[in-house]
Amino acid sequence: MTPATLSLDVARGSSWDAIILGAGPAGSLAARQLAREGARTLLVDKRAFPRDKVCGACLNGRALSVLQSAGLGTLAARHGAIALGSFEVRVRHRATRLTLPAGVALSRARFDSALVAEAIDAGAAFLPGVTASVLPSADDEVRRVLLTSIGPAAEAQARVVLVAAGLSNHCLARETAIRNDVADRSRIGAGCTVPDGPECYAAGTIHMAVSRAGYVGLVRVEDGSLNVAAALEPAIVKSLGAADAAAAVLAEAGFPPVPSIGRATWRGTAGLTRRTHPIAASRLFVLGDAAGYVEPFTGEGIAWALAAGAAVAPLELRACERWEPALERQWAELYRQRIARRQLLCKALALVLRHPSVAGAAFAMLGRMPGLAEPFLRRLNTPSVALEASTL
Ligand SMILES: Cc1cc2nc3c(=O)[nH]c(=O)nc-3n(C[C@H](O)[C@H](O)[C@H](O)COP(=O)(O)OP(=O)(O)OC[C@H]3O[C@@H](n4cnc5c(N)ncnc54)[C@H](O)[C@@H]3O)c2cc1C
Repeated sequence: MTPATLSLDVARGSSWDAIILGAGPAGSLAARQLAREGARTLLVDKRAFPRDKVCGACLNGRALSVLQSAGLGTLAARHGAIALGSFEVRVRHRATRLTLPAGVALSRARFDSALVAEAIDAGAAFLPGVTASVLPSADDEVRRVLLTSIGPAAEAQARVVLVAAGLSNHCLARETAIRNDVADRSRIGAGCTVPDGPECYAAGTIHMAVSRAGYVGLVRVEDGSLNVAAALEPAIVKSLGAADAAAAVLAEAGFPPVPSIGRATWRGTAGLTRRTHPIAASRLFVLGDAAGYVEPFTGEGIAWALAAGAAVAPLELRACERWEPALERQWAELYRQRIARRQLLCKALALVLRHPSVAGAAFAMLGRMPGLAEPFLRRLNTPSVALEASTL
C-alpha cells in the first residue's frame, strides 16, 4: 500500500503547527498523535514509501505496549506480524536458546507504511520523496525547513519542528546549536532480505551470530522471507563487502550459510554509535535514532523510537500554543527518564558482545541457567505501562 501523498507546493503554501522530518516509527507515531489532537501536521520523508530499512525487523514487548497505549494494539497482527518465542545466540559454535516473553517480527517496509497510513488517517499530511533540512533559527515565531526534491527547493514553516530522521542527521547540519558525534570505534549497520534461506532459520526465533567482526541477526518476517541485519566492524566491510562479512560472522559463530545473501541487495548505514547534544533547540525537538543510537538486541530500537514519538507529542502541543525556552530542558529530562535510562542495559550488553570470549562464557552460563536471563529479557521487554499511557 502506498500512503496518500501531498505536493511540495501545498506543503510550502500551508501554515503548519508541526513539521516532522522522518517517517520512521518515531516520526510517524508523533505525527499521528499530534494530528489526532488537531495540530496541522506535515510528515516529510526523503524516501518513497513503502521502503526497506536496515533493521532486524523485531518489535519487542515494550514496542507492542506503546502501540497498544496509542490505540494501535492490533496494528502488527493486522499486517501479518509473526510472534517471536525464542532467541538463539551462537558464539564460537556454541548455541544458547532463550525464551522471549513477548515480541513479533514484521518487515520495516510493511510496519513503517502501516504507521504512516495511521498518521494520514488521523489527519497528518505526508510528503514522501522529499529531503528536508532545518534552517537556522531566525524568527521567534516559527521554524523554517528547506524541502528538496526534483526541481527547485521550497521553504516551509511551522510553529515547531521535530527531527526524527534516524541515523542520517544531515538535516541538522545548518543548526549549529546541535552536535551529532559518532563514536570512533563505531560499527556500521548493513542488511538485506532473502526470499529463502535454510529451514533451520525457523519462524518465531531471532537467530543471532556473534563474532569479533560484529553480529548478524536473522528472522523470518510476514511473507516468509528472511530478514538479515548486521552491525559490523567497518574494516571488515571495507575489505570483504557487507555480504561476505556477514557470511564470515555466521560461519565463525557456527550458523549454516545462507547462500542467497551473496546475491541480495544490501543496504548500509553510517556509523551506529552516536550521541546528539542537546536534543532540543528553539522550536525544535530531536527524537528516535536522531537523538542518539544504542545497539538493540530483541527489538529495543523501535520501542525507544515509538516511546519517544508518544512522549514528545504533549510537549509539542504545548509548544505549538506557546513556545517557551524551558521546553528544551523539559524534553531533555523527559527523554532521559523515558528512553536514555532504559538504554543502559543495551549499552552494557553491546560492550559484552564486542568480546566474543566474554559473550561466549556469558551465554554458555545463561544456557545452563536460563532463569538468570529472565530478569534481563523482562526488563528489555516490559512496558512501563502507566508511564507511557500517561503521555498519550
Ligand atoms: C543492524 C540493525 C538492526 C536493528 N534491528 C532492530 C530490531 O530488530 N528491532 C528494533 O526495534 N530496532 C532495531 N534496530 C534499530 C531501529 O532500526 C531503529 O532504532 C529505529 O528504526 C529508529 O526509528 P526512527 O524513527 O528514529 O528512525 P528511522 O526508522 O531510521 O526513520 C528515519 C526516517 O527518516 C528519513 N530521513 C532521513 N533523513 C531525512 C531527511 N533529511 N529528510 C526527510 N526524511 C529523512 C529516512 O528515510 C527514514 O524513513 C536495528 C538497527 C540496525 C542498524
